Order: sequence, then structure tokens, then C-alpha cells
Amino acid sequence: MSTTSTATATAAAQHTMEQPTSVTVVAHEGLGPAPETAQTKPHHVLNADGSVQKFRNPHSSFVDGLGPAGSLGPLGFFKVMGTFIRYRFQGKLDTPDTTPPTVTVRTPTFLPTRYPDNDPTKNHPLRATWLGHACYYIEFPTGLRVLFDPVFEDRCSPMSFLGPKRFTPAPCVLADLPAVDAVVISHSHYDHLSGPSVQTIRQHHPRAHFFVGLGLADWFKNAGIKEVTELDWWQDAEATVTLGPVGGGSAAKTSTSSSARPSSVASAAPANVPAPLKALISCLPSQHTSARSPFDRDHTLWCSWAVSSGGRSVYFGGDTGYRAVDQDQEEIEASVKDASDLAAVHAADDAVRAQRPGCPDFAHIGALRGPFDVGLLPIGAYKPRTLFSGMHADPVDAVDIFKDTKCRRAMGIHWGTWALTTEPVMEPPQKLKEALRRRGLPETGVFDVCEIGESREFGE
Ligand SMILES: [Zn+2]
Repeated sequence: MSTTSTATATAAAQHTMEQPTSVTVVAHEGLGPAPETAQTKPHHVLNADGSVQKFRNPHSSFVDGLGPAGSLGPLGFFKVMGTFIRYRFQGKLDTPDTTPPTVTVRTPTFLPTRYPDNDPTKNHPLRATWLGHACYYIEFPTGLRVLFDPVFEDRCSPMSFLGPKRFTPAPCVLADLPAVDAVVISHSHYDHLSGPSVQTIRQHHPRAHFFVGLGLADWFKNAGIKEVTELDWWQDAEATVTLGPVGGGSAAKTSTSSSARPSSVASAAPANVPAPLKALISCLPSQHTSARSPFDRDHTLWCSWAVSSGGRSVYFGGDTGYRAVDQDQEEIEASVKDASDLAAVHAADDAVRAQRPGCPDFAHIGALRGPFDVGLLPIGAYKPRTLFSGMHADPVDAVDIFKDTKCRRAMGIHWGTWALTTEPVMEPPQKLKEALRRRGLPETGVFDVCEIGESREFGE
């Protein structure tokens, strides 16, 4: 089946699904528990007048492998480029082979209605569909539809003709998604936030509400989007999605503003108008950086997120490191007598990891906000380790994050789409199995990867 024919079929189905007439968001300080260490906001870098100048990773688990780019301002961009050129000459930056076959891409299928059997009280699992790289589409059994980090362009770059190009196609187009109530963005890097994708979502889902880290709301407002809420780490928002009548009706036709259907009138609404959907959306820490130009490094906050609705929950790791290490895999392998002795290599690797602390935020997230039905956790873009370990988890880091955050199950993201770093493109899932074994977990059924476009169910 070609993507085009399915696109037509699902686009037709879109008109039969209840579309939101409004998404009301109330953000609170202190809605959920936060660790005491977070009260002083150690990730804020302040101006002399007390306003926030930019953000930083507050823990010693972060070392900037690309050099002190942030402290050098725009000059830092050229320093990063210099590091890349030096590594390229040293042969440490080989471009990985992306010749097919790599990851299988299938046309996704979505539920035809928000309530599969018309009984929202039943204890259904949530449904999660991988749309490539960090993008996931979540169908909650309450009826809520959430999209994480949508980027559907060929290149993740400020320019359409330059920058990393997809080696696996997008499994569908954004118009195929039957409904989008909330879009959650981890940070400003181009492989997670795309101007054209955001505008396409607006076109098809004009009521969709965007959730972003501190400092990033202006980017949306400058793009003409008012439906955006920015949050700091450990802040939460309660979202209420009011729906149009069962059986369709476009958002524009049903209501022009949220005041047209106050919640107090919900009980008096016609029988075919479903009850509003509720969700708790929580902004949580991650260990990363941000930038969309040489001049805005770390000016907006990077985050992980938790979304729960009707007792089902998702933890979205976004893009994060766990602990910075100062040795590359090749050096570790060279340090053992027999590099084919995997146990010896793993012991040497664990010794290198043990020298550095892991990011403590993940254990706080697990203890205070977990457990989660499913974690969407990054497993790719990790080599050379000395450059990227501070900001990108490798599969062992990802399994440590999985355990710390108390996810019951997880799916690997941030791989299989753009070759951003030097590891072979099919290495992350292999290393993930190895990492699960090393941490005493089963190789399958707990923390898996899937095909692009594939859906899995969680919380059953
Ligand atoms: Zn990033």
C-alpha cells in the first residue's frame, strides 16, 4: 500500500472524529511534588537585574564535549565547528553508512474514533505510534491525542537544501493524523522543532495547544501562534479539551471561542457532545542544550515531559544525556587484553562510567512523578562519546534513565532517521539489547524498538 492511498483514506476518516472546539490550559506552580534542590532554580543563569539570561545544566554529570561554546557567545559556534574539523582530520568523524536496508518504514494506522468501543470507562491501554526520530503520536484511552517533537521535513536544518537529510522517509504526512489536541516540544534544536511542521499542524488542527520549555513561547508567538504554554522544570499544566459533536464537525464550525461552551454547560449539552478530556502535562528536567542560530545558545530551556490522562501516563525523555564520560569506545576496547571478550569490555566501560556521576534529576522524576506506563527514551546520536555523552544518552545511559524514572516499559527514540553522529545507524538497537542484559533486564518486552510507523499498546 502506498503512502498516498493511505493518506487519502485516513484524511477522509479525520472528518468523522470529534475535533476540539477549545483547549483550555491552566498552569500552576507546585501542582506536583518537586525536589527541594529545584527550589533555587540552579538551571537559571541570571542577569544583574534578576531576569533569566539563559539556562545551564546544573549537575556535574554534564560536561560540554563540544567546548565552552555557551560562554563564548556567538564565537562558540566557530569553536564547535573547529572541534568538528579537528575530529574530522583525526578520523573520528566518519559518516555512517545509510545504504538501505536500515529501519523498516510502514504506513501507520490510527484509531478511527476517540473511543474505540464507545465506552470511555473501560480500562483500555494507551496506544503509541513512532513517526520517526523523536516523534511519537499517543492515543490515550480517554480520547486525548498528543504529538511529541513533530519534524516531518527531509532535512533537520535551518535551510531546506543543507544539513542532515533523512535516510528513512516519514511514514505519513501530518494531515494523516486524525486529531491533535496537544503538541509537546522538548527543545529548540531543528531535529525536534520545525517551523514548517508546526504550521502544517496549525492548518489541520487549529485548536492544538503547544507546550514548550521556558523562553520558547516567543518563537511560537512570532510565528502567529497564541495557543502556547511555556513551563519551567517541575511546573505543570492542566489541560481541558472540549470536543465538538460525535461524528465530526470542524472546529471552526462548532465554536469560535472557549467561552461559547463553558464547562458548566457541559451537562446540558446535546447527548452527542462528549465530556471534556482532561490531562496533566508536566515539564521536567533533562540534560541537554538548545540553539537555533549561532546567537541563541541555551537561551531557551530543554526539557523532558510527562503527560497523564485518565490514569495512563507517558514519560517523554526528548533529547538528553545521562553522564558525560571522557573516553571513547575505541579507547575502552583498546584498554582490555582481548577486545572480543565482551564481559571484559563491559567491565572496562562500567569502570569509565563509574568515575562520573549520573544526572540525579531522573531519580527525582521517578520517585516524585513515576511510575509511568511507557517511557519514550533516546538511544541514538552518541558517538564520539567524548563529544556527545554530556548531551546524548547511549543505550546504557538510556537503560539507566529507564530504571531511574520508573517507567514500566519503554521505546527507543532519537535514532533511525537522521545520521547526526558517527555510530553505525543500526547500532543503537543492538547496543540497547546488550545494555538491557548488562543491567539485568530481559532483552525484549521491556525496553524495545519498533519499525517507523508501528504502534504499540501500554498499560493494559
Ligand atoms: Zn538536541
